[in-house]
Amino acid sequence: MNITTASLAHVDTWRGKLFNGDWIDALGGTVEVIEPGNGLPLYTVGQANAQDVANAVAQARVAQRAWAATHPRERAAVFHRAAAILEQHAAAAGSLVARETGGTLAKGEHEVREAIVLLQRAAAMPLQACGQVLPSVPGRLSIARQLPLGVVGVISPFNFPVVLSLRSVAPALAVGNAVVLKPDPRTPYAGGFVIAEVLAAAGLPKGVLQVLPGGAEAGQALVEAPGVPMIAFTGSTGAGRKIGELAGKHLKKVSLELGGKNSLIVLEDADLDLAVSAIAFGAYFHQGQICMATGLVLVQHSIAAELTKRLAEKAHHLPAGDPATSQVALGPIIDKRQLQHIKDIVDASVAAGAVVEAGGTHEGLFYAATVLSNVQPGMRAFDEEVFGPVANIVSFDNDDQAVELANHSEYGLAAGVISASVGRAMAIGERLHTGLLHINDQTVADEVVNPFGGTGASGNGTSVGGPADWEQYTHWQWVTIRDAVPQYPY
Ligand code: NAD
Repeated sequence: MNITTASLAHVDTWRGKLFNGDWIDALGGTVEVIEPGNGLPLYTVGQANAQDVANAVAQARVAQRAWAATHPRERAAVFHRAAAILEQHAAAAGSLVARETGGTLAKGEHEVREAIVLLQRAAAMPLQACGQVLPSVPGRLSIARQLPLGVVGVISPFNFPVVLSLRSVAPALAVGNAVVLKPDPRTPYAGGFVIAEVLAAAGLPKGVLQVLPGGAEAGQALVEAPGVPMIAFTGSTGAGRKIGELAGKHLKKVSLELGGKNSLIVLEDADLDLAVSAIAFGAYFHQGQICMATGLVLVQHSIAAELTKRLAEKAHHLPAGDPATSQVALGPIIDKRQLQHIKDIVDASVAAGAVVEAGGTHEGLFYAATVLSNVQPGMRAFDEEVFGPVANIVSFDNDDQAVELANHSEYGLAAGVISASVGRAMAIGERLHTGLLHINDQTVADEVVNPFGGTGASGNGTSVGGPADWEQYTHWQWVTIRDAVPQYPY
């Protein structure tokens, strides 16, 4: 095997194609991928329709049987090799991920680094214990073992596509499943083809991973496909509800990792400059297009005016522009539809009494780092996920009020509490209904080894990552073994 940087991340490889182990034409035609930073076409890729999905599932079902029967050491070796290959062409992959997603180069490179860790973690899974010996009657061996589910369907979004696809794809494959992956058609390389390339180059057998960019129609076909016992979905709460309903109808296991409206609570004894820097990162990183983005900044009343002033100053100094050609803090919003969503929420909130302290404007897809103060429950900026670079400031008087405001949201993904008193921050944190809690930090954090998931409208109670993975991508089988059939009273 001679894998070089030059042979990977080459757009001609996947131009107009889907991946089923080979690069093939799609029955659904093609779709153009636009670089959000400059509005120009990057390439076309295959656009899967329901028949493409059915074909992929049929092939994956056949390939899965042999893959599950492959020696665990060989399954592990595929992931070790894939991690090494991705490391070798990390620069090219990171740069293309950045351009396709409209992120900064640092964000693209970060995604690739995280992907390497995900592959390394997956390499460890096949060699871990996959069951337990249970107490039983004398003469009977009783074990519970964790078996692959079969074909896992993975549906992922546009914002952090490499990580959000691979966090399901890697562990699901590692324990012996096949995977049909449907990335968002706006980010097919980051959400799928980069993974297909490195795993294929590492020797993953053909058919075990299928990558089909496509829209809601393809996603729905995957959820309904009879040969797919589990769906791992990451995306909006609206789509998650539909998928959950459909999965319920077909009695499928489903993991739903959905939206968030995450509070960062800043107490009066906080270091203001550190708090402002943390808020800016939580609210503006990748233009706020992150499920864990700091969606509400809850600030104790006595420091609210000064904190707002300093945050507005910071926001004024965070330039937005094309990350591929200039040094910027913020890149473009993914597309016009998402931009309009942000504008609508800001405009409606201002009409309802919120005050623009910074930003609130855009040039093309570049929305400025924005600070809104006087945000209240009942305003769209308080109630809804913005998915844009908007810091919504709400002030509170005491700890009980802070908890009440944070728990007001139907979402329950992430929260942060910043205070010089860790005890006081912990006491508040204990009362917040979220899957992720950060004391003395902002809300955007994931280390790929932690179980990741939310409560309420942020998910259906499942977690992905770290210790949660075995439970997620396997099912239990109870097995008993006797030397001979026992005598029964009948
Ligand atoms: P989206 O729900 O519109 O799309 C996500 C994926 O689902 C895409 O691949 C899309 O094609 C597919 N899809 C859409 N409708 C579908 C349907 N009816 N059936 C099957 N598939 C369907 O999400 P988006 O707006 O592109 O992504 C942003 C959302 O994702 C935000 O709400 C964000 O908070 C959430 N998100 C959650 C997490 C998490 O881990 N909790 C991580 C990242 C993003």
